[in-house]
Amino acid sequence: AWGRICTDMKSTIGKEAYQSWIDPLSLDRIDQGIAHFAAPTSFIGRWVDRNYGERIRTSFAREGYSVTRLNFSVNPAVQKAAPQPRSAPAAQVAAPQTGDEELPGSPLDPRFTFDSFVVGKPNELAHAAARRVAEGGEVAFNPLVLYGGVGLGKTHLMHAIAWKLQEDNPGFRVLYLSAEQFMYRFVQALRFRDTISFKQMFRSVDVLMVDDVQFIAGKDSTQEEFFHTFNALIDQNKQVIISADRAPGEIDGMEDRIKSRLQWGLVADIHPTDYELRLGILQAKLDTQRAQHPNVTIDPKVIDFLAHRISSNVRVLEGALTRLYAFASLVGRHIDLDMTHECLTDLLRASERKVTIEEIMRKVAEYYHLRMNDLMSARRARVVARPRQVAMYLAKTLTSKSLPEIGRKFGGRDHTTVIHAVKRVEELKQNDSQIADDVELLRRMLEA
Ligand code: ADP
Ligand code: MG
Repeated sequence: AWGRICTDMKSTIGKEAYQSWIDPLSLDRIDQGIAHFAAPTSFIGRWVDRNYGERIRTSFAREGYSVTRLNFSVNPAVQKAAPQPRSAPAAQVAAPQTGDEELPGSPLDPRFTFDSFVVGKPNELAHAAARRVAEGGEVAFNPLVLYGGVGLGKTHLMHAIAWKLQEDNPGFRVLYLSAEQFMYRFVQALRFRDTISFKQMFRSVDVLMVDDVQFIAGKDSTQEEFFHTFNALIDQNKQVIISADRAPGEIDGMEDRIKSRLQWGLVADIHPTDYELRLGILQAKLDTQRAQHPNVTIDPKVIDFLAHRISSNVRVLEGALTRLYAFASLVGRHIDLDMTHECLTDLLRASERKVTIEEIMRKVAEYYHLRMNDLMSARRARVVARPRQVAMYLAKTLTSKSLPEIGRKFGGRDHTTVIHAVKRVEELKQNDSQIADDVELLRRMLEA
């Protein structure tokens, strides 16, 4: 089962990531819902758990194993078999200054740098603010709060800041961690009556970054501790950077004093991506994919199609491209629109905007300079009949409505008329490039 999961992971997360993180692991056993792995370093274990844990658990479930937790033990012998990725040691957060005291940070993703971050209108402000903070110098705004929806680049920007600060200031104590980790550390400190060193450690950093702070909403003692840590650092003029999935004022269950403190500095939101930005991101990711799969070619229409259709979140967008390349290189095919539909059915369905027959009729009428009534009428003149067929075809392919339902909407026509229209348009698309373009354009407008 693990073998199958590995094969699957290789195609979903990409060969490079797979080789860095998953390949070095060996599965020991599954015991009472816990999958025990040996990893060459604890860092790799932590990283896998954090970034791929969820995926691995669901894969096990698909294979019929109930796994609720992953456990990693360090076995350097594993390391000999598969060397640790070059970037891994650097990803340990912040070089500890004194002794071997380690900052309890979450790992930094080596791919999340400023260089790989594509800037557009929606993230312009957040990016500029992140840059400014990363450039160091005097503290410009404190705290910096980045907020925005899932998969829009908050974590990427935070890691980019951390990398840059560490690179420019060796010995600087930069601590990046998720709010979840913060809470985990705090609860551990309480349990082991070690809150003093917890406090000292957090108050001794030069820069503190807490990702996804909404996580501690409703967790009272953690919020309390967070508030004090936060204040102590700001008082010492130490930079604090926070991210959240919504505006600070809108985080339910967050104490008012924290909400208001978060707004003292600069609050920068990341807006949902627009078409331009998605195109830019795809182009950037394309370079990486090309380097990894030099033999795979891609139809530029696919890029345009993805930028139009996958508007939810950048992670999904990237995932789509990765999957296409993995599939294409596996089966040795050119990436075209057909393959895209074939390979991304589930993804596309999930991001599908629900188009109604009325919308289709309205757009088609507008496109051909007709009135909606013409599409429902009995007129058989070509200028009306052809657009009507196109509209029926789009209704069949873009909605899940049945043939009789579609017929009814078009002036009470029979379902066989709809079947005929769909067939006719399919034929025409092959032989008449004008019709093919019309259909393609209409589809785009309806799905945008
Ligand atoms: P968030 O933390 O806001 O949920 P992430 O920072 O994890 O989102 O971003 C999700 C994925 O999308 C990451 O792989 C990240 O590299 C990528 N990404 C997001 N925005 C951009 C961007 N502007 N340029 C390049 N990659 C981006
Ligand atoms: Mg994030």
